[in-house]
Amino acid sequence: MTVCFDTDLIIRYGGRGPRYTSYPTALQFSDEMTADDYRENAIASNSSELPLSLYVHIPFCHTLCYYCGCNKIVTRNQDRVGRYIEMLYREIDMQSELFDKSRKIEQLHFGGGTPTYLDQQQLDDLMAKLRSAFTFDASDKREFSIEVDPRTVDEYDIRHLAELGFNRLSLGIQDFDPIVQKAVNRTQTTDDVLKLTLSARDAGFESISFDLIYGLPHQTVVSFDRTLDLVIGMQPDRLAIYNYAHLPQRFKGQRMINDADIPTPEVKLDILHRTIDTLCGAGYEYIGMDHFALPDDELVLARRDGTLQRNFQGYSTHRECDLVALGVSAIGHIGNVFAQSAVTTMEYEALIENGQLPISKGIAVDEDDLLRAEVIQSLMCYDKLSFDDFGKQHDIDFPSYFADEIERLRPLADDNLIKLDRSGIEITQQGRLLLRSIAMVFDRYINQASNDNRFSKAI
Ligand code: SF4
Repeated sequence: MTVCFDTDLIIRYGGRGPRYTSYPTALQFSDEMTADDYRENAIASNSSELPLSLYVHIPFCHTLCYYCGCNKIVTRNQDRVGRYIEMLYREIDMQSELFDKSRKIEQLHFGGGTPTYLDQQQLDDLMAKLRSAFTFDASDKREFSIEVDPRTVDEYDIRHLAELGFNRLSLGIQDFDPIVQKAVNRTQTTDDVLKLTLSARDAGFESISFDLIYGLPHQTVVSFDRTLDLVIGMQPDRLAIYNYAHLPQRFKGQRMINDADIPTPEVKLDILHRTIDTLCGAGYEYIGMDHFALPDDELVLARRDGTLQRNFQGYSTHRECDLVALGVSAIGHIGNVFAQSAVTTMEYEALIENGQLPISKGIAVDEDDLLRAEVIQSLMCYDKLSFDDFGKQHDIDFPSYFADEIERLRPLADDNLIKLDRSGIEITQQGRLLLRSIAMVFDRYINQASNDNRFSKAI
């Protein structure tokens, strides 16, 4: 199914909203969820015998990209890095004790910050530590991915990552235009990215993903077209194209960006429109929420066979796994519990130094949350929901349980974002770009009237 760009609908429905990488979203997490609750829940989860997914957060970066809104630490201080790694090792020991060794790690993701801030020796040691603490899946089923900053690696590093067991990587590109790169303080040449991409293919990486951003200073439709041409020439398996949210009051680094250099909303819409047409014309499929993939990529296959999910990495496969998060600010999802580690390294390290798990907040979801999470997943991953099937699966009468929500969906149906009838909901080609506005109808925590600026804009 393709996607259809409708400027009028985008202007009307493209306001702020959660990206639903979880439901409930992290805004609902509270300190009522303690480390003891997490421990109990993690131990109890072993009865499920489900495989595990590991997320490891490396918060460090060498330099500041001015657009960045991530939780990161820009430093060259190796003592600080060494101390963090030492505490991360202790957390690995504490967390691994909670889970049965029979539960294999089918999925691993290194995120940041910049995971490739770590040198080869540090990465070797960290992987060895993880392998000794958990049982890694060695089969083809495994999906081990790492976020790579092209400025921090060469061809030998890429080969080294493959030797460590990684088989998927994502490269942070943002834009190939030198003027845009200079304005955001992130300079990397097209040649270097091409070399890394070829090396990754050569080293046997099964999936290569590029991250791009539209709405950056000095971008125009023509300049972004040139970037897209270069990207398509390199044929990444997946693409994530994010909307730049300029919030200089919240993110200090963004104050280095001159407001006047940012494309107008009209130009941004034109860039997005052109991007969708160009990528779909080049054979990419629109997965949803900024993500595109080639037809033989696992995301497209997972969408077809019903194993696609939204999680903290955006879209992902391996829906069956419990997610164990390691490192500062990382969010785990075990059974019906979400738990986030302390968000500052000071707090994170102090808790571990004290012999405690570094959990600072979270939420235990209730039955209603689970139903709503399932509805939101269905809409965001598969663009449709059958009332009958959902009702049978969850033992509810969907039209009665969600009577209010169905009423609130009617204007969206009148505007042709969705088809709504007695059998269910189907998202139209126009609605696919506005998934979060549709999903928000089922979010019991959100005040739809407020244009909450803690969230980014849908478009
Ligand atoms: S965009 Fe990535 S590399 Fe740049 S400062 Fe943010 S986390 Fe670090």
